[in-house]
Amino acid sequence: MIINKLSCCNEKSLIALTSGERLCKNHFIEYFENKVFKTIRQFELVEKEENLGIALSGGKDSLTVLHILNKLSRQNPKIKLNAIAIDEGIEGYRDKTLKTADEFCQKNQINLHIFSYKEEFGLTLDEMLKILDVKPCTICGIFRRYLLNKKSREMKLTKLATGHNLDDECQSILMNQLKNTIQASARLGPKVGLVHHERFVQRIKPLYLCTEKEVTTYAYVNGLLDDFNECPNAVHSFRAKVRDMMNEMEQKFPGTKYSIASSFLQILPLLKQQFRDGIIKICKQCQEPSANDICNACTYLERLKNKIIYQE
Ligand code: SF4
Ligand SMILES: [Zn+2]
Ligand SMILES: [Zn+2]
Repeated sequence: MIINKLSCCNEKSLIALTSGERLCKNHFIEYFENKVFKTIRQFELVEKEENLGIALSGGKDSLTVLHILNKLSRQNPKIKLNAIAIDEGIEGYRDKTLKTADEFCQKNQINLHIFSYKEEFGLTLDEMLKILDVKPCTICGIFRRYLLNKKSREMKLTKLATGHNLDDECQSILMNQLKNTIQASARLGPKVGLVHHERFVQRIKPLYLCTEKEVTTYAYVNGLLDDFNECPNAVHSFRAKVRDMMNEMEQKFPGTKYSIASSFLQILPLLKQQFRDGIIKICKQCQEPSANDICNACTYLERLKNKIIYQE
């Protein structure tokens, strides 16, 4: 049989990579896992001994990162895993993805810890959005990052892995350019953050160089792709607009996403140097790390409290 020059072998091809190369199922799994392990080595994301946390939403990205880190943990028992899920309280969405997360963890014997906005802050995200006139993702992201960091530290996790992929990173880079918030880009990269601080748990992104298409394909062939669930608030977000724009560019000019990320990685050390002197304070109300005297989470909680009192 004549094998097409762009095909890996004579098995049925599953995916065409950005380079044009077509891979069958087995060669794709090998390619994808090698790429993630290479990313981990290249950016020194995981040490020989870790008490790792994985931020698990139950979506394909976080399930994929957990699935691969679980393989790593089986090869290196000194790498321990703990899944952390945040229940924001988004009706008809998060309950479904949390069920998937729970099933995966039970099947793979991974400890899953769930923390909810309702228990931690007294209100679900849905309830907060009825009180405050704010963009859902802004307030949701602030509370989620706050809880993930606080709980990871309390659980004495050495690092927290997230399922951010190449598309997510490119969107963040472009969003910061478009909004003129370049200092926020200095915190991006495979290892998140600018300076080491004892109250911050280092966040890492093992899927940093994997496109959304690759992650979706890997999740599909490993049975990690559930019914397509999207947060009802996502469609209104600025990120969704940037995502559509970037996908259009990628379709017209294949390789656009890699170009954005690879040029960004070249300037990232300079950005980190430029903005590393930002002082990290301790919030006067909750003692969590913050850029200001009062952290963003406490500021929004105060606004919610005032509105509730005013409405009563
Ligand atoms: S899309 Fe926005 S509101 Fe929905 S979970 Fe993500 S950050 Fe929260
Ligand atoms: Zn093959
Ligand atoms: Zn605070």
